[in-house]
Amino acid sequence: MSIKLTFPDNSVKEYDDGVTVEAVAKAISTSLAKKAVAGKFNGAFVGLQDSLTADGAIEIITKDSEDGLNVLRQTAAFVLAAAIKDLHPEVRLGEGQADEDGFFYDTDRDDGQLTIDQLPAIEAKMAAIVKEAPTIEKASLTKAEAKQLFANDPYKLELIDAIEGDTVEGFKLGDFFDFEEAVLLPSLKDLKHFKLLSVAGAYWQGKSSNPMLQRIYATAYYKEADLEADAKRREEAKERDHRVIGRDQDLFFVDPNVGAGLPYWMPNGATIRRVIERYIIDKELADGYEHVYTPVLMNLSAYKTSGHWEHYREDMFPPMDMGDGEMLELRPMNCPSHIQIYKHHIRSYRELPLRIAELGMMHRYEKSGALSGLQRVREMTLNDGHTFVALDQVQEEFKKILRLIMAVYEDFNISDYSFRLSYRDPKNTEKYFDDEEMWTRSQSMLKAAMDDLGLDYYEAEGEAAFYGPKLDIQTKTALGNDETMSTIQLDFMLPERFGLTYVGADGQEHRPVMIHRGIVGTMERFIAYLTEIYKGAFPTWLAPTQVVIVPVNLDAHMAYAKQLKEEMLKKGFRVELDSRNEKMNYKIRDSQTRKIPFTIVVGEEELNAATVSVRKFGQSKAEEMPANMFMDSVQAEINNFSRD
Ligand code: ATP
Ligand code: ZN
Repeated sequence: MSIKLTFPDNSVKEYDDGVTVEAVAKAISTSLAKKAVAGKFNGAFVGLQDSLTADGAIEIITKDSEDGLNVLRQTAAFVLAAAIKDLHPEVRLGEGQADEDGFFYDTDRDDGQLTIDQLPAIEAKMAAIVKEAPTIEKASLTKAEAKQLFANDPYKLELIDAIEGDTVEGFKLGDFFDFEEAVLLPSLKDLKHFKLLSVAGAYWQGKSSNPMLQRIYATAYYKEADLEADAKRREEAKERDHRVIGRDQDLFFVDPNVGAGLPYWMPNGATIRRVIERYIIDKELADGYEHVYTPVLMNLSAYKTSGHWEHYREDMFPPMDMGDGEMLELRPMNCPSHIQIYKHHIRSYRELPLRIAELGMMHRYEKSGALSGLQRVREMTLNDGHTFVALDQVQEEFKKILRLIMAVYEDFNISDYSFRLSYRDPKNTEKYFDDEEMWTRSQSMLKAAMDDLGLDYYEAEGEAAFYGPKLDIQTKTALGNDETMSTIQLDFMLPERFGLTYVGADGQEHRPVMIHRGIVGTMERFIAYLTEIYKGAFPTWLAPTQVVIVPVNLDAHMAYAKQLKEEMLKKGFRVELDSRNEKMNYKIRDSQTRKIPFTIVVGEEELNAATVSVRKFGQSKAEEMPANMFMDSVQAEINNFSRD
């Protein structure tokens, strides 16, 4: 008997029934067999030693592919669990697996969780296991056997119960058994370059109502050089981490004892935020927006009408029962507020597009495990705007908003971004506003506008808002994660629910379309992002302190230094005079550490010639120039949103 296997290049070959994946690889070439670590049969992972007994599509997974790396890391997670059980038999295991960055395993223990100090010993144990036992065997147990084996591991028991049928498939390594849906490497000889990285709390199965386990994070590669490059990348990401820079530069803090996810903006961070807020307001005013202020609290009934209560409740703070029948809600979004502004007057077609904008503060009850610095918070201020348009104005307005977004990105020097058209999940339509025609029409409207502009985009199902499709502008964080920065969302639903109308040229009432848009997103996430892309060296127009003046001698040169400071303050520069009783070089170094754009030193020579000695951040050499010229160059950088 023989079977027919189809390869990725569509060629078809015949093999003996029962041939192993490894033999298939060998039959193609020995070099392929050397690199092979697993296979994919009709799209599902299969082990190298697995037999194939039917016709189908085969793919050999090699070490140099993403899938191949995944197999290595899955194996590493398995060995990590074996090592933990060996050293700490009292530990209860949760789940472990490969992820984008490496692999992890969740653990739990009564007398204090595993700590980072215990990782080196566990890592050494893993290395010892790899050295001793080079083969992992497939094994299957009955449910009863598996339950007996994991009698003291309640999390494993929960997982076993969730398995359908009576057999539990897994792998054995010596005495250690773990059940696995994934495939593992048949031999451990390729598992040489791995590193245990950190520990952090993680809720069992990601649910905050479940116990908090201790997750061990780690990574693994086939090559030493890749592991080294990864370590370097992590080091660099740490240097960019906005939480670290935020502390070093005294920008903000979040204290869980005062309120998790509720940030405090220190003067330096507040300055950056204020400059951005003024900038964006001016930019929007020039683009035809009208800025308003509306309350953070609103009657719950508005969120019932809007559908947030139905579709978004999980992310909302619980309502406040005022005791007299009134229920107040902290707003998670500003849309219903701007709708009130629209409704306050009778609107005419002559007013459309009507653009309402606000730096709107909102509250969302994010899961505590998801909170991170300013990147994900529970109180945030969104650069929000809603434009109300007639149906035939949608495309033009969409393009206008997109042009505004791109102009703003240019001013912030943001160039690494992509466009994602976010559609509803067609398999899960009950999560969304129920109007088939609206979805079809608005999704194709967005696509047409993008095509019209000639911009590249990708399409993502299941990423839409519950009320309509959107264009998301995706940027990358320092850690390489995709993140939505700006968004433009079409909405045919809220105007209907709130009964919005305008009087058309025909004297009749018509329904406007609403476009929700955020340009820089929330101040919190945007500033976290900027901190990371600039590595804390903010361009001059944003830097909390733009100039530090260092007098050579605190007596002789102080008057000149003060006079310069006064002049710069008058020009609106953010300037500090360092009059501490410290050495000059210490002050210069300190200013560089703080990444201040300009440090100027004034001594005898400068005093006599009305000059300054300028040291720009990152340059070791100072440059002598007339004081006026220096101030002009600072002004030029501020005007150009730059630092160079
Ligand atoms: P996410 O998927 O990140 O939770 P979202 O899709 O719910 O965000 P929107 O409702 O579109 O976000 O909110 C508009 C903007 O608010 C987003 O582009 C994002 O920049 C920002 N944002 C959302 N949630 C948070 C948060 N918890 N902390 C800081 N900024 C946030
Ligand atoms: Zn909105």
